[in-house]
Amino acid sequence: MTQVFNFSAGPAVLPRDVLLQVQQELTDWHGSGMCVMEMSHRGREFTQIIHEAEADLRQLLAIPADYKVLFMQGGAHFQFGMLPLNLARQDDTVDYVNTGHWSKIAIKEARRFANVNIAASSEDRHFTYVPDEAGWKRTAGAAYLHYCSNETIGGVEFPFIPDSGDVPLICDMSSNILSKPVDISKFGLIYAGAQKNIGPSGLTLAIVREDLLGRARPETPTMLDYKVHADGESLYNTPPTFGIYVAGLVFKWLLSQGGVKGIEQRNIEKASLLYETIDASNGFYSSPVDKPYRSRMNVAFTLKDEKLDDAFLEGAKARDLLQLKGHRAVGGMRASIYNAMTVEGVRALTDYMREFAGSKG
Ligand SMILES: *Cc1c(COP(=O)(O)O)cnc(C)c1O
Repeated sequence: MTQVFNFSAGPAVLPRDVLLQVQQELTDWHGSGMCVMEMSHRGREFTQIIHEAEADLRQLLAIPADYKVLFMQGGAHFQFGMLPLNLARQDDTVDYVNTGHWSKIAIKEARRFANVNIAASSEDRHFTYVPDEAGWKRTAGAAYLHYCSNETIGGVEFPFIPDSGDVPLICDMSSNILSKPVDISKFGLIYAGAQKNIGPSGLTLAIVREDLLGRARPETPTMLDYKVHADGESLYNTPPTFGIYVAGLVFKWLLSQGGVKGIEQRNIEKASLLYETIDASNGFYSSPVDKPYRSRMNVAFTLKDEKLDDAFLEGAKARDLLQLKGHRAVGGMRASIYNAMTVEGVRALTDYMREFAGSKG
C-alpha cells in the first residue's frame, strides 16, 4: 500500500482511520447488509446516521440550541447567492470584508442581489493581511456583515471574530471550521463546503440562528430557502447521504482526538513547524503573509528563485509529498495542513524543505 502525505487544498486529505472504517463498512453498514449509498434517506439506518452526525457536531462546536444545523449541497459557491436571497432585499446594503480570492467571489455574487459595501479590503497589499477592525467602514443598518475566516488561496486567517453588534455576522468558514474552538453565538450564520475539513465534496454545512430563517425573498427557489432545509431537517430533498455519513465519522474521529481543543493544539504545532522552517531558511523560502494573519490551515510560501519551483515539486513528489503547488493566482507553493494532516507528514515536509534549501541555497 502506498502511503503518501497529501497537502491538497481541497478536496483534501481525510483521517486514515475514517477511510479504513468506510472501507470496512462499505458493503454492510452495521449488519444492515447495505452500503450507506444504497439506503433510503428516510429509513431507520440513515436517520440514525444523520442524527448522530448532527449531535456530534453540536458537541464539537458547542452549538447553542437556538441554532439549526443544515446539511445541504452546492458548495460554498451556492451559499454566495443563497445568502443575500435569504437575508437581504434588493435595495438593502450588505457589508463585506475583502481579504482575498474567496471574499471577492462572494462579493461578486452578492452584487447581483443587493448593494454591497466593502467595509474593508486588504487588496492594497495583495491580500497579505487582515485590515484592522477599528478602521472598517460599516453601514448602519446593513442586512449583514460577511467575511471569510480563512482565505484558502492566500493563506490568510482571521485571528479574531469581528464584532458586528446587532448586525448578523456571516462567515465563510469552509477552510478552517473545526480547526479550533469558536464562539458560535457571535454569528448569525456560518457556512462551509465539506471538502476541506469535514468530508467529501458535495456536502455543504450551514449553522444558522433560528431568527434568520423564514426571511427569503418570495421569488427564492425552494431549494435555496434556508427555512425549507431547516423545517425538513435537511431531508427536504435527497441529501448527499454518503457525504453526511463520512462527515459523521470525521466528527467521531475529532471527538476521539480531544475535540476541537485537542486538534487545535496539533494544528498549532504543525503550522509552527512549517513557518519556523520558512523563517529560518535565510530567505530561501518566504511567506508573503504578515505574521499575525498567517493561516494554520494553508501555508503559502515562495522560493527565492521561482526557477527552482519545478525541481522542488519533483523532489517532493519523489518523497510522496503531494499536491504542494500553489494556486495559479498566487504562485509558489502551498501546503494545506488541515485537521487530518499528521504531524509526521509536516515533519517529512520540513525535513525535505531544509534538505532542498541546503542543496540549492
Ligand atoms: C474551497 C472554498 C470555497 C469554494 O468551495 P466550493 O465547494 O467549490 O463552492 C469557498 N470559500 C472558501 C473559503 C473555500 O476554501
